[in-house]
Amino acid sequence: MAITYGQQKIRFDTCGLRCYDTPVFKDLVQGLGHLVYPPHCLVCSTHYTAHPPGSGVCPPCRAAIVFNRPPFCRKCSRHLGISATNICKECRKAGPSFDFAWSACLYEDPIKDLLHRFKYGQKTQLRRLFAEVMISFIKEYGLDTGQFDAIVPIPLSSTRSRERGYNQAQLLAQELAREFSIPLAPEGNHLRRVRHTGPQSFLDEKQRWTNIKGAFTIRKLNNLKHKNILLIDDLLTTGATASEAARVLKDAGAGTVGVLTLAITAERT
Ligand SMILES: [Zn+2]
Ligand SMILES: [Zn+2]
Repeated sequence: MAITYGQQKIRFDTCGLRCYDTPVFKDLVQGLGHLVYPPHCLVCSTHYTAHPPGSGVCPPCRAAIVFNRPPFCRKCSRHLGISATNICKECRKAGPSFDFAWSACLYEDPIKDLLHRFKYGQKTQLRRLFAEVMISFIKEYGLDTGQFDAIVPIPLSSTRSRERGYNQAQLLAQELAREFSIPLAPEGNHLRRVRHTGPQSFLDEKQRWTNIKGAFTIRKLNNLKHKNILLIDDLLTTGATASEAARVLKDAGAGTVGVLTLAITAERT
């Protein structure tokens, strides 16, 4: 027996109790489940049935996300004041090693709260919403993703990876690689985090730049020669972590190194 759902046919076996394991069937089952038990929004806890299903956030909370707006610093994409030049004061002072960084939204609620749950609360389903936010930013500003040969997530240390069970940057990188058809370098394949640095959030700006030095190393050197790399991370604060990763990639012969993060802090610390 078969039923039609959208473009696809879903076949049932002769007893009618099992079907083939298709994504469409899973969506259908999830959709029916949501009709009976509407999911809670992770931000406001209300039940909702509206699109997009499975993102974990209701449409009004999603609409409350504060996007990063121009004028952007040409280096780190932090919003510039009216009288500022093309590059912010901090980038002129620090001189980050990446060629440019793009951040889709500001590190303010609801993104701040959601990002915390994504990283520390096992709410990995949020990767879809976060990737959608990053993709819509890229499309809105016509940013050229075609220039990149590979997407590389900022790796976690093995200690942190074991604690968390996943790398949030890797989850985002998977979604973005699929959307933009850019090969994804599996975590640790090119760039490895060899030193557990502890949370950067407890350090001031100067300490962050010192603390992250020597945290990364490179594998498979030859694969990176003249390759343009897009680094993916969840948050850009001082840019010290992304800069250090870019530095070792460039030392290994990489070409352009861009950075794409979900969020950016309004201030450096
Ligand atoms: Zn909500
Ligand atoms: Zn800047």
